[in-house]
Amino acid sequence: METRNWIGGSWSTPADSQVEVYNPSDLQEKIGTVNQGGREDVLKAVEEAKSAQKKWAQKTGAQRAEVLYNMATALEENLVQLAELGSREMGKPIGEMKGEVTRGIHLLRYYAGEGVRPEGTVIPSSDVDVLQYSKKVPLGLVGLITPWNFPVAIPVWKMAPALICGNAVIWKPAENAALTATRMIELFEAAGVDSGVLNLVVGKGSIVGKAMLEEADIDGLSFTGSEATGLYVAETCAKRNIKFQTEMGGKNVAVIMKDANLDKTIPIVLSGAFKSAGQKCTATSRIIVESEIYEDVIDRLKKGVEEIQLSHALDNEAYLGPVASKEQYEKVNSYIDLARKEATIVAEKEIDFDQEGYYISPIVITDAPSDHALVKEEIFGPVATVSKAENFEEAINLANDTIYGLSAAIFTENLGHAHKFLDRIEAGMARVNQETAGVEYQSPFGGMKQSSSHSREQGQAALDFYTNTQTCAIKFFS
Ligand code: NAD
Repeated sequence: METRNWIGGSWSTPADSQVEVYNPSDLQEKIGTVNQGGREDVLKAVEEAKSAQKKWAQKTGAQRAEVLYNMATALEENLVQLAELGSREMGKPIGEMKGEVTRGIHLLRYYAGEGVRPEGTVIPSSDVDVLQYSKKVPLGLVGLITPWNFPVAIPVWKMAPALICGNAVIWKPAENAALTATRMIELFEAAGVDSGVLNLVVGKGSIVGKAMLEEADIDGLSFTGSEATGLYVAETCAKRNIKFQTEMGGKNVAVIMKDANLDKTIPIVLSGAFKSAGQKCTATSRIIVESEIYEDVIDRLKKGVEEIQLSHALDNEAYLGPVASKEQYEKVNSYIDLARKEATIVAEKEIDFDQEGYYISPIVITDAPSDHALVKEEIFGPVATVSKAENFEEAINLANDTIYGLSAAIFTENLGHAHKFLDRIEAGMARVNQETAGVEYQSPFGGMKQSSSHSREQGQAALDFYTNTQTCAIKFFS
């Protein structure tokens, strides 16, 4: 398979440069070629999308909804095939990948419904014979820049609300999720998405992403990815006064109190840390344990790690597949090397899996001081640190001792601790007795502190981002 751009309803194969793609679960398997586009593709897409958006915005919400329902059906009819491609391209276990495509279907249907739901408010006027009300109007043309770790769900949770609100879209996916992106757009074309309303431009962040940010005449930009890129996105959009949102990294915490139900807690914490090979922005990467149960928790984590099997991502039972790429493999291993030198690895599964791929054993680290890079920096791999806290007060202070604020969980049977945690934790997603990872599509999603630009995605919150509010007033002379 090869990637192609979809601009103004036509397919093209850019010839700027090519990258061959290999399956991270099996480096012998070449799965396709990414044809990288350039700035001229972005500018062409802007031209096409600008005129298409005008017609799209004039359609009724019900007509736009019909298109989103058809897009959902297209994903549903091709769920397994698309999930397999995603697993092959970036190594997510097939069970999780199918769940992700299912989420894309739910998101499309949820936002399709918004096409016929009430919006705006009637506001009493201080004047006589005036009807005053507010309504939502589309931004116009929005750019979407997405990461590789949720190759289907993240693009859909941006494009579905953008489209239902009457915007046109130019989407730049991550280079190592671009085959899945191309296939998705093929499905959406077959579902009857209007020409020019949705455009795909594949290419490098430093070329296609940069052109989208610095040159394209866009009215909004939604970005998910690393903190470094997100800060550049924010700075560039702010200078151009383009509405933007950035969702970035995390250093998510699970706090385990002495009254937690450990039989239930440990599998949940392991799942939060190691599913998707720790490559979820909401993955658990710090575990804070009340000192009385510290040794018990360490023993249980060790046993849990021993039971985790590495698997090819297409294995139906896969729990932990490879990390997504060579860059990820090298970056995560550099942190593991650091842990071997400067901390203690208390749990590590020996790799006895005979497959050439980017496999990394699950790792649990102790004895890393609270200001150590292992505790402070986002590792984005199957690696978690464990620290000890004397009591709730110390646990919450340690939990908040991070520049990030995406997701956090406490495990406790004490209602007081649960409520105090929810009151005091500095995280956009705060949970009790649940994984740090795992967010429902109908709820607002996003981070605090350095994790986000502080708007929210998904649920009703996304509709605020993709629209402007217009206040209307009508005077009637009697
Ligand atoms: P990344 O920042 O390297 O890339 C994200 C996207 O930005 C890609 O499409 C990339 O091509 C593009 N890009 C890169 N440089 C660019 C530039 N100079 N100009 C414009 N675009 C550019 O991030 P990644 O490695 O793909 O994703 C992993 C990161 O994403 C992690 O930090 C993770 O926490 C974060 N993430 C956050 C969320 C969230 O909702 N908070 C969700 C998923 C992933």
